[in-house]
Amino acid sequence: MLQRIYGTCWATDADLKAYLTMVEEAEKRDHRKIGQEMDLYHFQPEAQGSVFWHPKGFVIYNQLEAYIRRRLNASGYREVKTPQLMASKFWEQSGHWGKYRENMFVVPDEIPNTEDDAPVLSGDADLMAIKPMNCPAHVQIFNQGIKSYRDLPMRMAEFGCCHRNEPHGALHGLMRVRQMTQDDAHIFCTEEQIQSETEHFVNLLYAVYEDMGFSDVVIKLATRPENFGGTIERWDAAEKALGDALRATGHDFVIAEGEGAFYAPKLEFHLKDAIGRSWQVGTLQLDYVLPERLDATYVAEDGSRKYAVMLHRAILGTLERFIGIMIESCAGKMPMWLAPVQAVVATITSDADAYAVKVAEELRAAGLRVELDLRNEKINYKVREHSVGKVPAILVAGKREAEEGTLSVRRLGSQDQKTMALADVVKALADEATPPDLK
Ligand code: ZN
Repeated sequence: MLQRIYGTCWATDADLKAYLTMVEEAEKRDHRKIGQEMDLYHFQPEAQGSVFWHPKGFVIYNQLEAYIRRRLNASGYREVKTPQLMASKFWEQSGHWGKYRENMFVVPDEIPNTEDDAPVLSGDADLMAIKPMNCPAHVQIFNQGIKSYRDLPMRMAEFGCCHRNEPHGALHGLMRVRQMTQDDAHIFCTEEQIQSETEHFVNLLYAVYEDMGFSDVVIKLATRPENFGGTIERWDAAEKALGDALRATGHDFVIAEGEGAFYAPKLEFHLKDAIGRSWQVGTLQLDYVLPERLDATYVAEDGSRKYAVMLHRAILGTLERFIGIMIESCAGKMPMWLAPVQAVVATITSDADAYAVKVAEELRAAGLRVELDLRNEKINYKVREHSVGKVPAILVAGKREAEEGTLSVRRLGSQDQKTMALADVVKALADEATPPDLK
């Protein structure tokens, strides 16, 4: 029998204490626990690593997707949608069949039946795979029609739903899933455009992280590994272009020596959360190989055919994991614009029911996500319950508030309550609920 024992070692008592506090905090913030308390999603054994999004959780998901979509549209990206299932031949061409097949879910295409009804498969030709990534499909769109250098850069985005066959033991809530949706995009460009496209991407990425409340970002530039493909000159130029882009946008970075993919360098963006943990979220991976394998070319200014360069890039990574990180970082207290329920109108006595209904209507008309709590329960009980549900604003209405046209406003995490006129409450909450990019 083997028993695995973990240990950690700290230089001072203070360091050890800080570590233990962090572990304790992390447990309290576990997104699986908070997700249950807030009724956001669940998992079950019949769908290992895939999320059942509940109505409230799916509000967060949809808000986040809509936000990124607006950001991408404003930054010159064009959105596409590509097939979920593609033939093995396609994945052979892209190189995934050889290197990545064990992580792919493979299914038969047509099943020709014999007399005894047993399926006959004549090898890989009859197989299809559920896409583990979107890149090769985006090249198919790029390859429709001849592209000229004037068409570049081309920024192609997809909220692509991908499946990867991760072992059951490796799965962990929203953080490690089998079915994921990336905020994925590929930039097709010329070699000369690598630096300017990287700058464009880094600026967009920082704007997004700031909107999400993450200000502590560590950038790593992963450079040429020992076993590398291509020429040293090309590697040097590529690493320089990425480094120059970071300098031009005013960001410090660390070099991750030898940690690049065998074919090209990449940038990694690590976020620090509220309790000091670091999460790799964004990436920008340079790629010369896939365009060559799939023959993605353009006509250069001198009339020659050249291979396009591809930049694989994501800002949030996957929506699932990013939501998990957000929930853990803010312990479920989502910023107002992402909160599934933004306000609850709760009555003290039934005298205020008609007024509470009117309040809820006005808030909804202002675009807010509101719930009414007219139950015959003590107000403290109601407040406690909605606090566990992490509703940012609880608006209490009794007889006096109904008569005066006011509300007693309680904010999540605060013991204070403030009496405000209804019109002022509507305006203040509507302002706060506006997504950061629309303010
Ligand atoms: Zn890609």
